[in-house]
Amino acid sequence: MDYMKQAEQVIMKTYNRFPVVFEKGKGVYLYDTEGKKYLDFAAGIAVFALGYGNEAYNQALKDQIDKIIHTSNLYYNIPAIEAATKIVKTTGMDKVFFTNSGTEAIEGALKVARKYAYLKEEREDYEFIAMYHSFHGRSQGALAVTGNEKYQKGFVPEGCRAVFAQFNDLEDVLSKVNEKTCGIICEVVQGEGGIYPAKKEFLEGLRKICDEKDLVLIFDEVQCGMGRCGSLYAHELYGVKPDVLALAKALGCGVPVGAFVANERTSHALVPGDHGTTYGGNPFATAAVSKVFDLYEELHIVEHVNEVGAYLKEELKKLVSEYDCIKENRGIGLMQGLEFDCPVGPIINKALSMGLVIISAGANIIRFVPPLVIEKEHVDEMISILKNAIENH
Ligand SMILES: *Cc1c(COP(=O)(O)O)cnc(C)c1O
Repeated sequence: MDYMKQAEQVIMKTYNRFPVVFEKGKGVYLYDTEGKKYLDFAAGIAVFALGYGNEAYNQALKDQIDKIIHTSNLYYNIPAIEAATKIVKTTGMDKVFFTNSGTEAIEGALKVARKYAYLKEEREDYEFIAMYHSFHGRSQGALAVTGNEKYQKGFVPEGCRAVFAQFNDLEDVLSKVNEKTCGIICEVVQGEGGIYPAKKEFLEGLRKICDEKDLVLIFDEVQCGMGRCGSLYAHELYGVKPDVLALAKALGCGVPVGAFVANERTSHALVPGDHGTTYGGNPFATAAVSKVFDLYEELHIVEHVNEVGAYLKEELKKLVSEYDCIKENRGIGLMQGLEFDCPVGPIINKALSMGLVIISAGANIIRFVPPLVIEKEHVDEMISILKNAIENH
């Protein structure tokens, strides 16, 4: 209790936090300061894919700490080279820039698109087409393409906002393309907006528009990427490639790191002096990234997500038919949502008190983004607590 009181005194009040202090984790369970155990179906918001306390991951970080943590980008470092090589190899794209967060990955991706357009025609009034109900981060650039008035209000001047189109509505996007458009940005599966997967025709259509008009297509896979949807990158499921891909969340499995990855067409746009970061891609963060890729392979994470994700979906679909208050299930792999006909806050609070960590994505939607190493028995345990919370909240 004292910790919470102290936190409110010294930490800026930008969150209404749940009344719990997590102190440690093991596997897919978290423990609070009172020693109470929680099943974790949030993974620190889709971050901790490998679960807590993976020994090989922890050891790689410890080893790197003993070697060197930080050098700056003025010099080469081995973990960054290794991590970037793994990203290039698995994406089939050309060049990587490491950032410290998803927001910064988006900022960089937007800069690539602006610069790409600028190199063709030296104007500065470029516009992005972004999607309603999208989420791309909280910096002013990332907010400008975030299609949610709640997040933008008071922070993004009218003239700086992107042009917004309806997600999965190709006609709407097409009607908004003009001579100022430099790029189109969208999540492959909208996360914060309520777990809405893109339709195949939509992504294919965006690719076609961008090819025909020489625009930069940016996919934000900060949340849906890194195996969560049952392929290493969500866009692989659609067979549609972006020009620039933004990654973060599970990329470092807890170490703050993101990346934007550009294909051959766009990777030359940023040149020395155009972009930079002090921490981005430091040896500690990129040692984490590198180990994450190795462990994904060793543990067959993607295959596992397909198996457990299908089971989770089945179980959630059962809930939809069992409870009138649940409207539908949406999602891919281990990125699932349940839409209720009422605000889900009280259910989430009740579940937490019963030892289950779940989060929302919008007022009426419960989001399930567990560690990717979750097993079927954990799904069963989650469903049983969730039912209890729905019936007794
Ligand atoms: C979380 C998220 C971001 C922002 O990432 P941060 O690491 O919080 O800066 C951007 N896009 C999507 C889709 C996200 O889910």
